[in-house]
Amino acid sequence: MAKITLSNLAHSYFPKPTSEEDWALKEMNHVWNDGEAYALLGASGCGKSTLLNIISGLLEPSEGQILFGDTDVTHMTTTERNIAQVFQFPVVYDTMTVRENLAFPLKNRGAPADYIRQRVQTIGQMIGMEVELDHRARGLTADAKQKISLGRGMVREDVNAILFDEPLTVIDPHMKWALRTQLKELHQQFGHTMIYVTHDQTEALTFADKVVVMYDGRVVQMGTPEELFETPEHTFVGYFIGSPGMNVLRARVEGRRAALDNGEIGLAGAYPALDGKVEIGVRPEFVRLTDAPDGLPVNVRRVEDVGRHKIVRADYFGSPINVIVPEGHEIGADMTRVLFDPAHVNVYQNDWRVAPTGQEAA
Ligand code: ADP
Ligand code: MG
Repeated sequence: MAKITLSNLAHSYFPKPTSEEDWALKEMNHVWNDGEAYALLGASGCGKSTLLNIISGLLEPSEGQILFGDTDVTHMTTTERNIAQVFQFPVVYDTMTVRENLAFPLKNRGAPADYIRQRVQTIGQMIGMEVELDHRARGLTADAKQKISLGRGMVREDVNAILFDEPLTVIDPHMKWALRTQLKELHQQFGHTMIYVTHDQTEALTFADKVVVMYDGRVVQMGTPEELFETPEHTFVGYFIGSPGMNVLRARVEGRRAALDNGEIGLAGAYPALDGKVEIGVRPEFVRLTDAPDGLPVNVRRVEDVGRHKIVRADYFGSPINVIVPEGHEIGADMTRVLFDPAHVNVYQNDWRVAPTGQEAA
């Protein structure tokens, strides 16, 4: 196994890209640590499959290099890179049995028959198909075929990395949870580097040690679920992760204060002078509904009870502000103001987070 380095990597599907939009992947530099479980998260069309296929060797990048350890693998095939990949839709050999399908990658590499039998049994159990091992793949449901594809991806223990491209799309919801748990266990057991593409934040946050968030051909943040929650580096991360996502308001930031359209809030640190589009972001978890006179006045539009807590949908001079009210907290009719926890207010310039220059007390 090896760490994976992407060096000045960029990709366009056009032979002669002219504008920024022609690049499916904008130039990026990243290191993916050996043995970690990554989720590659982003909306449809942001470049997840393109990046995954470049890492696996199905696609050659227009620019830049991919290194496995110190070896440049940019021009090597998937087989040479020793990678297993599972796709969104099943890829199985219809004329073979489930067992033969699962054994295929091991047979191909000349593994001993005893080992193959044992390993196929283990994997068959993991994907919940041990009783169907001798059925032909033809005639099985799409769901079952996809489980075979997953099993084939996991069967080899000696791969450099296992890549999954939205592998649970055709799997029924109940089985999804079970398979995701299996993948996580497999990772803990064997410590393969795993990259799991999904557009579902719950899937990403439960599977991965590190979540890699993509937006419009760029990796906008690579971090632990906690980092993505506490300090979204880009407003997209704030919106996309969280339920509801981060509140974002236009602001003018000066030192330790942020002036909003109709009010002012305190910040936990001091900021340099900022130009361009300046915004503050605060997650609904760090907004408090209050009757205190120093709060920002809001119109409460709707209260949603989602069980664990309530979501208050409010409006501040035309800008939506969502508040999460913990279980057991009363929402009084006179609570028409909100307060932000300054330690959890982030400042953004042209959508990218700006770090405060000083955290010292005012
Ligand atoms: P995702 O997997 O995040 O949905 P993709 O990597 O498939 O995104 O696509 C990224 C962008 O590249 C999209 O704009 C898509 O239309 C474009 N694209 C993907 N595959 C091809 C292709 N084979 N030829 C041309 N454009 C493509
Ligand atoms: Mg895709």
